[in-house]
Amino acid sequence: MNPFAFTPATHIDAALAALLDPDTRPIAGGTNLLDLMKEGVMKPSGLVDINHLGLDQVEQRDGGLLLGALARNADTAYHPLVRERYPLLSSAILAGASPQLRNMASNGGNLMQRTRCVYFYDVGTACNKREPGTGCPAVEGLNRQHAILGASPSCIATHPSDMCVALRALDATVHVRSMSGERAIPFADFHRLPGDTPEIDNTLQPGEMITHITVPDADRFIDHSAYIKVRDRLSYAFALVSVAAALDLDADGTICAARIALGGVAHKPWRVEAAEDALIGKRADEAAFELAARTILQGAQGFGHNDFKLPLAHNAIVQALTTATRGTDHARGLDAGTKGEPA
Ligand code: SF4
Repeated sequence: MNPFAFTPATHIDAALAALLDPDTRPIAGGTNLLDLMKEGVMKPSGLVDINHLGLDQVEQRDGGLLLGALARNADTAYHPLVRERYPLLSSAILAGASPQLRNMASNGGNLMQRTRCVYFYDVGTACNKREPGTGCPAVEGLNRQHAILGASPSCIATHPSDMCVALRALDATVHVRSMSGERAIPFADFHRLPGDTPEIDNTLQPGEMITHITVPDADRFIDHSAYIKVRDRLSYAFALVSVAAALDLDADGTICAARIALGGVAHKPWRVEAAEDALIGKRADEAAFELAARTILQGAQGFGHNDFKLPLAHNAIVQALTTATRGTDHARGLDAGTKGEPA
């Protein structure tokens, strides 16, 4: 690992001043950044410790939810407010990583984590995301985990987060701050597609830091939501495909509103709002869900090893919507997790 300066910050202004240096990175739980530094993928000359800035709230705000950037994933997922009013978000967080990692990983860090593409981590190979202009060996190489939507010839990586899939479905907003002020970024615009600049993961500007995330009221989806994650192992594995689904159903099973977001399939959480709009007024049945899956996956393309993701994603969408229709696990008393349970 390269030498670096370590600066503990006790006030946000001190942290933001340190971040004016483009070679300095904020560190909270460090569950991804330290791996990247140990592998030589990222070589910051400075780290500013942002763990003690008081940004660890999980609370109700303006009828919705406010999540501090430094609240831990586990504390967020098990918070009564999140479990009771945002079960989709709680389920998605608990599907990620391992109990130990969730105890350490911060909410802001979850948004900032980088792809787990094996070439990105192997500094002996080319990779446009790690070294722009060197090429993308995944297009012709090992691409089992890679994107089927929104990819470009420059990069076919996927975003690894589970939490972000639920936040996208729930129309969250990312709040950031720099020495120049504050701004709010709709979740849809926070992560970006690779295009010709895959080295840029998101729309955070130099010197900006995430302070908190807000999620609007989602009570209409409490009783009918599901997070389905298909992966190679039951625990501690990234999604091959994941689906966050939420439905608002009237008394006779007609869909009043729908939310569907996918993980493991693109460089950012994937959502096609036209597919959700088309479900409104339909009965919540397999025919409607099949149509939604076909709409969401229009234009999907495999790269060889990941061709299986096309039918897998289709089936996962139908399964998630079917499960959501039956009722949220938490509403059916099936979600009895504790902080130390196996993931
Ligand atoms: Fe690098 Fe993206 Fe290609 Fe992976 S998919 S090798 S991260 S450019």
